[in-house]
Amino acid sequence: MDEIIRAVTEDGFAKITVITGRDIVERARQIHDLSPVATAALGRTLMAASILGDMLKEDDATVTVRLNGGGPIGSVISVSDSKGNVRGYVQNPHVDLPLKANGKLDVGSAVGTGGQFTVSRDLGLKEPYIGSTELVSGEIAEDFAKYYVESEQVGAACGLGVLVDTDRSVACAGGFLVQLLPGAPDTLIALIESNISSMGQVTDILSSGGDIVNAVLNGLNPTVLKRTKVEYRCYCSRERVVRAIDSIGHEALEDILKSGENTEVVCHFCNTKYHFSPSEIEEILAKHLP
Ligand SMILES: [Zn+2]
Repeated sequence: MDEIIRAVTEDGFAKITVITGRDIVERARQIHDLSPVATAALGRTLMAASILGDMLKEDDATVTVRLNGGGPIGSVISVSDSKGNVRGYVQNPHVDLPLKANGKLDVGSAVGTGGQFTVSRDLGLKEPYIGSTELVSGEIAEDFAKYYVESEQVGAACGLGVLVDTDRSVACAGGFLVQLLPGAPDTLIALIESNISSMGQVTDILSSGGDIVNAVLNGLNPTVLKRTKVEYRCYCSRERVVRAIDSIGHEALEDILKSGENTEVVCHFCNTKYHFSPSEIEEILAKHLP
């Protein structure tokens, strides 16, 4: 079971959010039949969204992370609820690229760097709050950190990793976002930087049974404040799909009716298929007063 862990250093100047997300990323892979590089790209984005979702204070709020770098994977989209439960999809789930020289999946080339890292927070108000930054590398962790530093005006660092096994399943996945609070001393910043550069990849720590909180905050005596179970979760339902069909308008619905065919609506996030017969479409049309 995946979880989000929040911890703070003894001096209170740095806080960290860590996610272990193996089951979430594996679920995404199975739903979308993702290639290894798409598993890594969507997996990292899902975990970034989950970290941001866990920070939302409003119960019904959602946060959407969208990457559109112009690479062969197309758009990468992840949505989190306010508890860190996530869902997502990529435009081209079967994208396949050669490994990088170091043997790693080439997420940066799949995503591309010709676009934006966009975060949209829907707090139930009329308009969502949208912020975006230029993509740096398309590797996602770096892009997420840049977004966070620019939007929150705080020092931050991020690591996100997905290890795909030889049978294409997800061996492990996890990540962290560490934030500095105002007044953080230079010695603390230097220690965290040195910890991050010497600890290796997030997936190395996870696959050796290590602890990301203590790796990043080594020497700072961190205390765990909260642990929250998180999962891949879609909120689609037949009722929501009916509302979506209704929203396409009277004329479009009449056109569907004229065709006399059954209508299939597929949820982008979980691939659940919803079927509507012409008489069911007629019923939706009858209830909808133009
Ligand atoms: Zn769904």
